Amino acid sequence: MQTATPAATPIASMTQEIPGTIAPGRARVRSGAAALAAPEFRYDRDAILRLKRERNAVILAHNYQTPEIFHGVADIVGDSLALAREATKVDADIIVLCGVHFMAETAKLLNPEKTVLIPDLQAGCSLAASITGADVRSLRHRHPGVPVVTYVNTSAEVKAESDICCTSGNALKVVESLGVEQVMLLPDAYLAKNVAAQTEVKVLSWSGRCEVHEQFSAEDVRRLREGYPGLSVLAHPECLPEVVAAADFSGSTAAMCDYVEEKQPARVMLLTECSMSDNLAVQFPAIEFVGMCRLCPHMQRITLSGIRRALETLSHEIVIAPEVAEHARLAVERMLKVR
Ligand code: SF4
Repeated sequence: MQTATPAATPIASMTQEIPGTIAPGRARVRSGAAALAAPEFRYDRDAILRLKRERNAVILAHNYQTPEIFHGVADIVGDSLALAREATKVDADIIVLCGVHFMAETAKLLNPEKTVLIPDLQAGCSLAASITGADVRSLRHRHPGVPVVTYVNTSAEVKAESDICCTSGNALKVVESLGVEQVMLLPDAYLAKNVAAQTEVKVLSWSGRCEVHEQFSAEDVRRLREGYPGLSVLAHPECLPEVVAAADFSGSTAAMCDYVEEKQPARVMLLTECSMSDNLAVQFPAIEFVGMCRLCPHMQRITLSGIRRALETLSHEIVIAPEVAEHARLAVERMLKVR
């Protein structure tokens, strides 16, 4: 099983004019290319491009954002950690994070001097919601001396209670970097199991689950392979272990993107949030993207009109209490040092 470190892709050159006219409403457009041409997005997109210049703002979009955001207005795209890291390199006063709340917090942790905005404060995450700082303290009490590794999909409060963070791309490396026999890897139960299957380190887990990735089954993979000969199946490590075992490759969203780019499979199924397939389909029109659409309801709260409002009103600003930020940043920075 392979994993890869996260990467971000600057796409500033793609945020230029895309033809279209105004129409009301925002429909889910399944085809990425169709989303870019959809006329209802024109008004918001033009306003966003103008406001970005006026506010000296940069837009970061996660791989799960829909094509009209990902390809239409984003300056930097990638997974959550890569977005935060890339944001430290740009000369902007404002970051608009198009993703969920913990991602905006991570961007703020690594960019404390910048104003970080999220278009919808309700954009949460089932993993981040599954655990609190008090839970981590209680686990430490029950397992004294066992280091706590927390997935980046957690609140700043939980990161602040941790020894080190990890991503789905570097979780194995982080766990093994600690040089101990036992760790707690929180909160994703399946990521913990998938890591445990690759290491001698004993991995204690929590009961968190991604409500999107837990929907895929090994039976889905078997059925789709039957229906689509030659299909390459790529699974995110938040999927069930039996789903990961049934896949040809498992890795973070960044690793899956790299796999598609490098191998250029004729047919591929990505067992992850389906906006990523839409975005890759725009980039690789010759590849057939097969599969069931599983959308993250939290990611879907971010819309072009929401981004426009965020830039107009400079809301919603991410604020983290200084003592929480200090400890949480340390956990993130320790991870960044793991090579
Ligand atoms: S896809 Fe899963 S892990 Fe990602 S934000 Fe949605 S609920 Fe959280």
